[in-house]
Amino acid sequence: MTVSFPTGTILGYPRIGRRRELKRAVEAFWAGKISAEELEQSASELRAATRERLVSLGLGRSDSSIPEAFSFYDQVLDAAVTVGAVPERFARLVKEDGSVDLAGYFTIARGEGQDAPLEMTKWFDSNYHYLVPEIGPETDFHLASDRLVREVAEATVAGYRTRPVIVGPVTFLLLSKPSDGAPADFQPIDRLDDLLPVYAELLAALTAAGAEWVQLDEPALVSESIDVPREVVLEATRRAYEALGSSVVRPAIFVASPYASLDDALPVLASTPVEAIGLDLVKGSLPSGFTTDKVLVGGVIDGHNVWRGDLDNAFSALERLRSSNPNVAVSTSTSLFHVPHDVEDEPLLEGWLKSWLAFADQKVAQVSILAKGLTEGRNAIADELQAATDALEARHAAAGVHDGAVRERAASLTPSDFSRGDYSARLAAQEEALHLPFLPTTTIGSFPQTGDIRKARAALVRGELSHDDYVEAMRAEIRRVVDLQEEIGLDVIVHGEPERNDMVQYFAENLDGFAVTQNGWVQSYGSRCTRPSILWGDVSRPAPITVEWSTYTQSLTYKPVKGMLTGPVTILAWSFVRDDQPLRETANQVALALRDEIADLEAAGIGIIQVDEPALRELLPLKKKDHDDYLDWSVGSFRLATAGVEDRTQIHTHLCYSEFGVVIDAINRLDADVTSIEAARSKMEVVPDIKRSGFGRGIGPGVYDIHSPRVPSVEEVSELIEIALGSIPERQVWVNPDCGLKTRGYDETVQSLANVLEATRAARAKA
Ligand code: GLN
Ligand code: ZN
Repeated sequence: MTVSFPTGTILGYPRIGRRRELKRAVEAFWAGKISAEELEQSASELRAATRERLVSLGLGRSDSSIPEAFSFYDQVLDAAVTVGAVPERFARLVKEDGSVDLAGYFTIARGEGQDAPLEMTKWFDSNYHYLVPEIGPETDFHLASDRLVREVAEATVAGYRTRPVIVGPVTFLLLSKPSDGAPADFQPIDRLDDLLPVYAELLAALTAAGAEWVQLDEPALVSESIDVPREVVLEATRRAYEALGSSVVRPAIFVASPYASLDDALPVLASTPVEAIGLDLVKGSLPSGFTTDKVLVGGVIDGHNVWRGDLDNAFSALERLRSSNPNVAVSTSTSLFHVPHDVEDEPLLEGWLKSWLAFADQKVAQVSILAKGLTEGRNAIADELQAATDALEARHAAAGVHDGAVRERAASLTPSDFSRGDYSARLAAQEEALHLPFLPTTTIGSFPQTGDIRKARAALVRGELSHDDYVEAMRAEIRRVVDLQEEIGLDVIVHGEPERNDMVQYFAENLDGFAVTQNGWVQSYGSRCTRPSILWGDVSRPAPITVEWSTYTQSLTYKPVKGMLTGPVTILAWSFVRDDQPLRETANQVALALRDEIADLEAAGIGIIQVDEPALRELLPLKKKDHDDYLDWSVGSFRLATAGVEDRTQIHTHLCYSEFGVVIDAINRLDADVTSIEAARSKMEVVPDIKRSGFGRGIGPGVYDIHSPRVPSVEEVSELIEIALGSIPERQVWVNPDCGLKTRGYDETVQSLANVLEATRAARAKA
């Protein structure tokens, strides 16, 4: 292959649109308001706008530097429908030519009637969720979609030569799960040899459409959290790229490996006929002593965070890479779909903060600068490097980035700040203080966020509702939620979280050291977007945040009210965090702010406080060697937040998933008095793990799956309670839903909770 790789490129660009145009179009299609043709038209316009913008930011119109990386919903689902991997239960969606249309594609993503959608799970160490393909011995791989080919052709017609992007075959199979009927010893990766010809056929079609390069994303090669032995992964990598590399008609192959180092997969890839290899040099490191004549695409611009960063240092990394490798190009470390579109689209952010930031568009411009440096030499970009260095120095020196009082307090922490007293003494004190019945019942915190609640909040933001009127509207909602819980008979009352737009942003808005954006949306899954806050400085709490809401709630009831906070790890995981100090330090600052909040809640008479950590597992590093350090600081920050309370104050935590076994050690070390986890969806699959671990504190395995509007029957709930009581000592068991109720409607919530209570009463009567 003689075609050269572009000197500068990006691995991918936000797909959702600067004003979430794709979200709106897709949701309009779902609602039947626009046709499939109209949706295709909007998507096509969005792709055209993206290409044009990328050229204006410095990428080449015809050098394959623009990635063709659009998706209507998810890139893993795209790969699945491209290779014909549609589960049996959706066979009716497959047309005669083997393809599924747009409506069918969304049905696989979202389910229909009794047919559950593909499972959704987190994409590496990010907050993006992909759909898990289901592969079995029966999966009939064939080229079933020409969508990517048409997108390349569309670009060609518009005068571009773009680089199609698709999830690579190894990652595709490693992220898949065995289909329902597959034999117990079957693994999707067993089907590699059957899958490769389909990829080869796709590559040939892409060539015919005008592609000179193709990008195959293989992030699974960097992860050690894959359930397949490493030798198998490496052998699959070798076989896949030997085979694809040997196909006669194909574009040049660029294998991208975002999120960490390739380690032992790098020499394997380099021994195959692929032409270019992408390295994440932000999370990973330079392969020392490694040389190759392949193009090494240095991912030195952080695609996963929002900082303008150290451009000079990034360029130096490329120079080092080039000192031992002849062919070096520059790229982002990951696709830019983890960051918002454009800093310039944030009129309310302070100028000084904006000068420290780079969203997708700014990062493309950074790539262009470094590419120019690679071609013309360092002097040619000296001014730009200096400007970035100046901004970085200003950032380091800025007030708020280093707050003396915050730092002093963190520096003087001792081990005793991280631990509470003996659990048995706590248990006794809590029993005396709280008088809870056998099988105490509670909820996870939020109640349905009604249209009225959202309208009130929007009116407050627009200045159409006064602060006092807003508070009164929220109090009215709290009264309603408390009355409802009293009527249903729940033992531990929550206020329902009506005042929170989001469980992280709410705290970010009330703590110093954070900024929030107006248009900084990033895709979380499908059409769902989140707007992560930016944690830029030392964190402190200017004033109590939740205390008035909780004490108001307590004034309405004689039952104990549970205060509700988001934990430090989750606040970090769902924000853009500063990159200029270890996460441990940032987490401890957040923890200290929460510790003060908890102390104030306790002093105000709130006897139960829940600190949610649904993201505890999400930040688990991809490399095993980093696990201990991660668990040490993450668990440590939770303990720092919660360890200041008296024995009689009961600390709860909530985790949103059911793979308890994976993090049981961490959960145990959190030392919360009561832990609620998701369990209903998996029919209490976690209970044996809990039993085996000997977990000794309160535990509430969910008995009501809140992910769907379905109301669980009393019998169903009774059965789940019985499973729990069968394995876990009775005094430890709590009864609660799987998660918060904010996405549910009121009718189904009331009925479901009433059934939960009826089942609980029956279980109590039997005991
Ligand atoms: N307290 C939060 C709620 O109920 C917890 C949400 C979560 O775990 N994601 O909404
Ligand atoms: Zn949850």
